[in-house]
Amino acid sequence: MNDLLKDADLCVKCGLCLPHCPTYTHTQNENESPRGRIALIQAWAGQKLASSEKLVEHIDNCLLCRSCERVCPAVVPYSRLIDNFRNQIQTGRKSSVRVSLIKKVAHNQNARRLLQKSLRFYQTSHLQSSARWLKLPQLLGFQPIERLLPETKQPAVLANFYPASGEKHGNVGLFVGCMGAWLDQKTIHAAIQVLTTVGCDVYLPKQQTCCGALALHDGDQTIAAQLAEDNVRSFGGLELDAIISIASGCGSQLREYSNSGFAGKVMDISQFLSQFASDLSKRLKPLPKTVCVHTPCSLKNVLRSEQSVFKLLGQIPGLTLAPLPETVQCCGSAGSYMLDHPKMAQTLLNDVLESVLQKQPDILVSSNMGCALHIAAGLRERGIKLDVVHPVVLVAGQL
Ligand code: SF4
Ligand code: SF4
Repeated sequence: MNDLLKDADLCVKCGLCLPHCPTYTHTQNENESPRGRIALIQAWAGQKLASSEKLVEHIDNCLLCRSCERVCPAVVPYSRLIDNFRNQIQTGRKSSVRVSLIKKVAHNQNARRLLQKSLRFYQTSHLQSSARWLKLPQLLGFQPIERLLPETKQPAVLANFYPASGEKHGNVGLFVGCMGAWLDQKTIHAAIQVLTTVGCDVYLPKQQTCCGALALHDGDQTIAAQLAEDNVRSFGGLELDAIISIASGCGSQLREYSNSGFAGKVMDISQFLSQFASDLSKRLKPLPKTVCVHTPCSLKNVLRSEQSVFKLLGQIPGLTLAPLPETVQCCGSAGSYMLDHPKMAQTLLNDVLESVLQKQPDILVSSNMGCALHIAAGLRERGIKLDVVHPVVLVAGQL
């Protein structure tokens, strides 16, 4: 309680964060704003407000996009406050079935393998098209998960080491996380190809696991700490110059591990390549296309590295980059948020899609797998054919 009060008391209630908050923008309700949520937690921790479903609901409606944290002049550690509140109120709070299922799969390799096989069968046997036609995912309450599924491929077996091609310049570890290894293999292979081409030996420790963000933001600090320990151990014996993340949501979690030796080495792949491979352009074939750049909140508000994608892609000759306007807020995916808050997630997604379509791009890039899946699902639902890929996939394609 003391920690909660200490963090909450930093808020001077100036309200500068309000226009940056997606849930406040769409509801105009102070309880759905950063300032309001901080005041609710302050009152609860100070024993002036009893626990209630309504209280938990207001806090859980937060996307943890951290736009408020980025602009706060009092540097309120907003995300820590919310995570600590959820952890402390855990007894009166239950994870939804969907989030519990996703956590089980994310934290357990055997469960992941089983689901992978079942999904492959679901998609290749035409069960998926029949189920969608019969609206079974909606009837069974699994539509928020089912709509996200990309076409899953037979997973390629990944080696735990890929040597630099040509002159070696350094050693990096590649963090592939839990879901990326089967839902986003294209990005993993592209990352390995680009990193080895620029002279990095690439290590993929087999024991690496989920970054822990799902557990932490669901109020389970014990599991999150265990997963962090597992990851620190799995990369621990290697002499690495950097630990590269290919999903900014995972990267921002890794960057906040309490083990500073590990956290200090974490870099988003675009940040790494834009700093250490700034002469890539001479190796890249031209690509005369317009690429719309979606910047995930985790890249902007936590890793504070949004310019790195522009610097990296700016090296592809002939490419026209189309950034989304500054006013575009969170796309609504926000980890597991889109599964439990489909209405707000859809409202926010619609705002992003409108801005994307105004740019009339040939390709859309996003640095976070969750955002990419959510946006791609939204485009499919509108019958729009537009490739959504990670920036490093574009770079690898031009080598
Ligand atoms: S900007 Fe910071 S200090 Fe101001 S109301 Fe928001 S959280 Fe509080
Ligand atoms: S984290 Fe995002 S949704 Fe939550 S209060 Fe801050 S700005 Fe609003």
